Amino acid sequence: MRVLRRFAVISVLLASVMVSSAAANAAPRETAPPGVGHDISHVSMSTRGHGPQGVPAAARTSAGKKTTSNGINYHGGPVLNAGVHAYLIWYGNWSGNTASTILPTLVTGMSGSPYYNINTTYYDGANRRVPNSVTLSGQTTDAYSQGSTNLSDSAINAVVASAISSNRLPSDPAGVYFVLTSVDVTKSGFLTSYCGWHTHATIGGADIKYAFVGDPGSNGACSMQTSVSPNNNVGADAMASIVAHELEEAATDPDLNAWWDVRGYENADKCAWTFGATYTVGNGSTANMALGGLNFLIQRNWVNASGGYCALSY
Ligand SMILES: [Zn+2]
Repeated sequence: MRVLRRFAVISVLLASVMVSSAAANAAPRETAPPGVGHDISHVSMSTRGHGPQGVPAAARTSAGKKTTSNGINYHGGPVLNAGVHAYLIWYGNWSGNTASTILPTLVTGMSGSPYYNINTTYYDGANRRVPNSVTLSGQTTDAYSQGSTNLSDSAINAVVASAISSNRLPSDPAGVYFVLTSVDVTKSGFLTSYCGWHTHATIGGADIKYAFVGDPGSNGACSMQTSVSPNNNVGADAMASIVAHELEEAATDPDLNAWWDVRGYENADKCAWTFGATYTVGNGSTANMALGGLNFLIQRNWVNASGGYCALSY
């Protein structure tokens, strides 16, 4: 596993992405080389490597910046201080796939958990904290509305916009809309530059936060376990850690103007692909926490207290 991880870290480099709310539909994401670092942070991505995310400094808001002694800084923007409303959009063909129970269980199980409680160490300029609350507020399917199994960034935006405009999902500024693509769907950058990302855009006049997380199947670029996994679904179990990653980043940096560090890393970026203490479950796979009655292997997250550190609970 160690060798595999090292290989993956090398092979999957982090792309930088530029998305502004105004430009999201047109969507050119700018990719900057890994290591091009400061002053960029935006769209957070789950990758196996490190990950500055590229957005020009001019596009960022740093009013009210506050440097903490915890290794991550506040830049003045909102956090999701009323709890996260998670929406799952199942894009492609998920027929017969146990992901449709595994990932909703994950999302529901995060709420009130010691793990998600780490996010309560983040707050806005009025000292309103991110509550330990995640609600699975809706799900819908999308059978290839974009007419292809190869999606662009703007197609991800269109999938979210379509779900809202058709009233399959409500328009919810407290929501985080996850576009979950089935294993047959490809997307430029997925599995080569990133495993997932989150951003925001104005959709139907509202500030909508959304994320992309693809099913990697047995591709090890975005998963720790490619033969056996806690819930006997290597793709969904890999997605679980990425969904957690994007969820906690969207809660603490929903508009990409709140919390990141001097390298541009958001909270989950700082602990990506680290897992803390693990245990072996019945099928021989590895897990590190139970959520909603299921075992998962979920990356650690950054605690914004006591000098800052990666942890599985707070
Ligand atoms: Zn990230």
